Amino acid sequence: MSDKKRLFGTFGVRRTANDVLTPEFASRLAACYGTLVKGTVAVGGDTRTSTLMLKQAVTAGLLSSGCDVVDLGILPTPGVQYAVRKYYDGGVMITASHNPPQYNGLKFLDEDGIGIPDEMDIKIERLYFDAEPDRVEFHEIGELYQNDKVIDEYVDEAVSKVDVEAIRKANLKVVVDCGSGAGCFTAPYLIRKLGCDVTTLNSQPDGFFPGRNPEPIEENLQELIHVVKELNADIGLAHDGDADRTICIDENGSFVLGDKTFTLVEKQMLKENNGGTIVTTVATSQAIYDVAEEYNGEVIATAVGDLLVARKLKDENGLFGGEENGGLIFPDFVYGRDAVMTVAKILEIVAKEKKPLSELVAELPVYYASKTKIECPDDEKEFVMASIAEEIQTTTDFKLDRTDGVKILKEDGWVIIRPSGTEPIFRCFSESDSQKKADEMTEWGLGLIKKYKK
Ligand code: MG
Repeated sequence: MSDKKRLFGTFGVRRTANDVLTPEFASRLAACYGTLVKGTVAVGGDTRTSTLMLKQAVTAGLLSSGCDVVDLGILPTPGVQYAVRKYYDGGVMITASHNPPQYNGLKFLDEDGIGIPDEMDIKIERLYFDAEPDRVEFHEIGELYQNDKVIDEYVDEAVSKVDVEAIRKANLKVVVDCGSGAGCFTAPYLIRKLGCDVTTLNSQPDGFFPGRNPEPIEENLQELIHVVKELNADIGLAHDGDADRTICIDENGSFVLGDKTFTLVEKQMLKENNGGTIVTTVATSQAIYDVAEEYNGEVIATAVGDLLVARKLKDENGLFGGEENGGLIFPDFVYGRDAVMTVAKILEIVAKEKKPLSELVAELPVYYASKTKIECPDDEKEFVMASIAEEIQTTTDFKLDRTDGVKILKEDGWVIIRPSGTEPIFRCFSESDSQKKADEMTEWGLGLIKKYKK
């Protein structure tokens, strides 16, 4: 039997609601997961119109497989991850993260609150398609409980991990845009508990996302940028639909790229802890390595995927990790991208360093990135990558990294050629010390792909 996944993506299943993702589908899939977990499973969801429907279906499936279920209500994905790690045997989050309102998805967690590994995705799919989930007898059907306290516990623990007094004293003016997603139930309260002056945007939960698209990219955050400038705020913060990612706007209204936020927090974490292990992916900036070198850190790079970063952080007892898209992982809190800890930490940094965010960002190492993609049929990808690796090894002195695709490291930058797991394309990213060089390297990478594909 092939080990290629039939339903799962990199983190759970995501589809248009009531098209593929019907209550029947969700219920059976949850029963398959429950068959493997056989314990107490926490269930939470985001603010989408289809979330309650799917949550009831998931709950029924879990109960029928003999699991007890704890309903956590509407909360961020990392809130569910936090609860599972502390109290439960597994968890299911109903969310489509940053996707448009017609989508929804199911994210399944292991007992540490990390997204389940590929092997378990495949086991669930086999039960779903080729066998039957366990349907227990009447006297073994699970019980349903509620826990509406865990969301406050999650926020309070993040507050307890930063210097609240220092943040309070800084009198920061903060604008937060929750995008009408799950962050509505955490972010404004968190920022108020930290003693800041809070202005909220799109902080009424609404599955139609009337204020903005849930993806926190610059074009969707124009209103936030405008309000930060109008109010002379110190910082603007935005989350995606399930509030695991955080994007910052500086006091001038400039969008701060996710890898800058990552590097800024990395620097602080290493300073505070006198070094430590940082985990990221092979597609993240050299700046992460530069800061690690300066502050006694060690960097481990995994293949692309937040679950891989989270798992590595656990296995290596790492200090901090993340990705270039604004997803930061604090492993002593949640084994996954977390927004409350990110917000608390960034406000702490601005308060303690007594400098505006733009200045803190300007102090970080500067690199220029170039990103593009090119079509390539799935069955040619292996040959293309092997041929490129072969050519580089036999004709150049450049270093190669095969953690994910082919990464070629030159003296003044790197280029990575990475096959998409879901589309017939290669992604080609590069980074260098000037934009011109970065663009040239991407062109060179594309040239290599074209040379070997039919
Ligand atoms: Mg998300």
